Amino acid sequence: MPRIELIERGPLSPSASYLAFRAPYRHEAGQYVALSAKVDGEVQRRYYSIASPPRADGRIEFCIRHGGGFGRHLSQLAPGQTVDSSRPAGNMRLLDAARGAVYFAAGTGVSPIRAILFAHLDRNPEADATLLLGARSASDLLFHDEFRALADRHPGLRVLPTVSGSEPSWPGLRGRVTAHMAEALRGRTGLDAYFCGPPRMVADLRERLARAGIPDSRQCFERY
Ligand SMILES: Cc1cc2nc3c(=O)[nH]c(=O)nc-3n(C[C@H](O)[C@H](O)[C@H](O)COP(=O)(O)OP(=O)(O)OC[C@H]3O[C@@H](n4cnc5c(N)ncnc54)[C@H](O)[C@@H]3O)c2cc1C
Repeated sequence: MPRIELIERGPLSPSASYLAFRAPYRHEAGQYVALSAKVDGEVQRRYYSIASPPRADGRIEFCIRHGGGFGRHLSQLAPGQTVDSSRPAGNMRLLDAARGAVYFAAGTGVSPIRAILFAHLDRNPEADATLLLGARSASDLLFHDEFRALADRHPGLRVLPTVSGSEPSWPGLRGRVTAHMAEALRGRTGLDAYFCGPPRMVADLRERLARAGIPDSRQCFERY
């Protein structure tokens, strides 16, 4: 089983960390791996999407929620420590860099979305892309500053953050990402849709996107 070595880590939000490893394998943007480690005395295995596009130096990045035992274990690793990893797998991938796209990311579901969005803009810097980024609170909007900086460099990218908790000082969109689908699509049907989040969000989006004229074949998703 391949081993990946932690090279950098840092906070992303009050409940999630950013971790970068050096990996001995290549992946496609959107894929995930199964990581294994001894946690609380027994070997455990959890799936994590790689949050970065493929890089020549083998660096892979993750966005990890601290939530339970495995998430806490990962977020406490020190640089130089290793974790067992499966080879990358999964069906999420960039469908067509030439086409416009809408991206929906909720919580740590941002991981494969970030990887694919970066790959998309790398291959087509002028791409028409809209990202709906959702979280409970503004401080939980993962990679928000980075996505804003990306939009400054790519005029075709529109970033729409939305907050679902009650936060009186938040000046932007409110509610879940699904509530703003019409604003993301603006009546267009010739787009690809990428989304990742909890099963209910995924089921809801699949149905709503199909009704809005984006067929299954143009939808690419993962549920956590
Ligand atoms: C394809 C795929 C990709 C995934 N990608 C990611 C990713 O990129 N990032 C990511 O973070 N996760 C990802 N997941 C989820 C991940 O695999 C784990 O399920 C998640 O990290 C929870 O594992 P855990 O051991 O930390 O929590 P578990 O111990 O399994 O607990 C599950 C959940 O219960 C709650 N919980 C458990 N203990 C406590 C506690 N003490 N206090 C409060 N709440 C608690 C937490 O909400 C926790 O998330 C992915 C899952 C799949 C299937």
